[in-house]
Amino acid sequence: MPNRTIHLFNKGLRLHDNPTLVAALESSAAVYPVFVLDRHFVESSTRMGALRWRFILQSLEDLHRSLQRLGSRLYVLQGTHEAVLRRLVAQWGITQLSFDVEVEPHYKRLDEELRAMASELGLGVLSCVAHTLYDVKRIIKANGGQPPLTYKKFLQVLSILGKPDMPAREITEMDIQKCPMPSNEGGEEHYQVPSLSELGLEVDSEVLWPGGESHALERLERHFQSQGWVANFSKPRTIPNSLLPSTTGLSPYLSLGCLSVRTFYHRLSKIYAQSKNHSLPPVSLQGQVLWREFFYTAALATPNFTRMVGNPICLQIGWYEDPEALKKWKMAQTGFPWIDAIMTQLRQEGWIHHLSRHAVACFLTRGDLWISWEEGMKVFEEFLLDADYSINAGNWMWLSASAFFHQYTRIFCPVRFGRRTDPDGHYLRKYLPVLKNFPSKYIYEPWNAPEDVQLQSGCIIGKDYPLPIVNHLDASQRNMALMKTVRCEQANTTELTRDVADDPMEVGVKRELSEEDAVAQGDGTECNGGISVGKKHCSSENEGRTCSWTPDTHRLQEISSKVM
Ligand code: FAD
Repeated sequence: MPNRTIHLFNKGLRLHDNPTLVAALESSAAVYPVFVLDRHFVESSTRMGALRWRFILQSLEDLHRSLQRLGSRLYVLQGTHEAVLRRLVAQWGITQLSFDVEVEPHYKRLDEELRAMASELGLGVLSCVAHTLYDVKRIIKANGGQPPLTYKKFLQVLSILGKPDMPAREITEMDIQKCPMPSNEGGEEHYQVPSLSELGLEVDSEVLWPGGESHALERLERHFQSQGWVANFSKPRTIPNSLLPSTTGLSPYLSLGCLSVRTFYHRLSKIYAQSKNHSLPPVSLQGQVLWREFFYTAALATPNFTRMVGNPICLQIGWYEDPEALKKWKMAQTGFPWIDAIMTQLRQEGWIHHLSRHAVACFLTRGDLWISWEEGMKVFEEFLLDADYSINAGNWMWLSASAFFHQYTRIFCPVRFGRRTDPDGHYLRKYLPVLKNFPSKYIYEPWNAPEDVQLQSGCIIGKDYPLPIVNHLDASQRNMALMKTVRCEQANTTELTRDVADDPMEVGVKRELSEEDAVAQGDGTECNGGISVGKKHCSSENEGRTCSWTPDTHRLQEISSKVM
């Protein structure tokens, strides 16, 4: 007997490369595409801000339109998965459930619940891998049952497995016609995508990343038109403070599955095959999605991956509890324009460049504030359109040197990092309009501007814009010493994610290999590469002040009082 199937969309909000939906269509007489909007399920496992909710609702609308074009539709229902599905199974005479394999703990729990319900109700279950390049369990198996915990080891394991599967075939009108749904299922209004305001949410910022598969594919095509750019892509050479993204900006679409990672990967392979030369992992574009896969694999096999306590690969660090400093960081009030501009972009737009993420993450944790990476991860989770369980936690551990990254003496200077690629501060002027009239010379360190410059710029530091929250040189040196002690005490943990060959300090591997190194290397970005070289990097008169900042609070208060 052919099945009557509910295809449940969770992530994977797309029709291209959708092997589970293809399998459902091939084995059924009727297929009902369903999305259960279970807010309790989502919000009990993640902090999701209104920007990402907007992105999801737009993606659902887009999916509904694409299904309609093929003669089907999307049924969106609110409630718990269990209650909604039990009702629909009875109402539609369902015999089979289909949904993608997911790897995150809360989706795995949902998977188990759905399977238990299916078994109780006598339903078949269809499930394929679609959110990752490989079945990550196979990667772990191929590595002897353990996750490869360094990128180099990870690539070695992949070389045993061969290339990822090709994307699934296209879904056509014919497929849908073969599995028609009864036309009227009790009123359109019951199944519509709710509006943001119906969810009690509001966003007034412009839509820069419209949600949905069509936008994802459009964006992919736009980037892939320039084959030279794709072939030569080298992550460290992209610019964090360009006014438009200097990388693909596809992460929101990959994270929600509006874009298939296998489609992305194999399109790249095709371009590489047609190019004389192309960049390689870890810095190439293919290398980027392999980082994604790397963190998915590590997260699947590591208990408490998103926490420090109980996480066996993560250094156990006595971070400061400083809610006030955390709030200042989150609300773009640190007094370091580079950091505050990034946090403003994050909160307004939901996407920031990878190196900008480096800058603010390093600043919050091992660089300046010595606040736990978990706190930063939660803030990112709330605001990022691409917030992702495995990638977010993995990168926060990396940036805080809690796991994966070991060059803890490389601390980004919150003044020089941004200045390197945007000396005139166009990016700062856009996101921090309060500083827009500052001369370029002072815009990254406005507290050093003389009184008359502050007055002319219409912004008094300490009044209209905050004084720096810390003395960067003092804080970073103190933190480096703390980190050194922690690492000595927990040497066994550091070794778990350390690859000797990845560490240029230990073997002379080309620095080019690591984006951290490329960022920090000889370009003045790394302010205090080590206590002993701190001075060397801060040679010019003005640069020297940058690094050894001391706030002249009296002078600043004097200026403030003059204009009050
Ligand atoms: P591109 O450079 O165009 O790369 C293409 C794709 O490769 C990305 O869309 C992404 O899926 C993947 N990718 C790129 N860099 C990484 C990386 N370092 N690790 C894993 N996958 C990568 N990315 C997320 O998708 N979700 C997150 O929650 C997230 N949190 C982060 C937190 C911190 C502290 C840091 C430093 C990085 C984080 N990243 C996260 C990784 C990375 O910054 C973004 O994936 C990237 O900037 C997205 O822009 P893009 O699509 O233009 O990337």
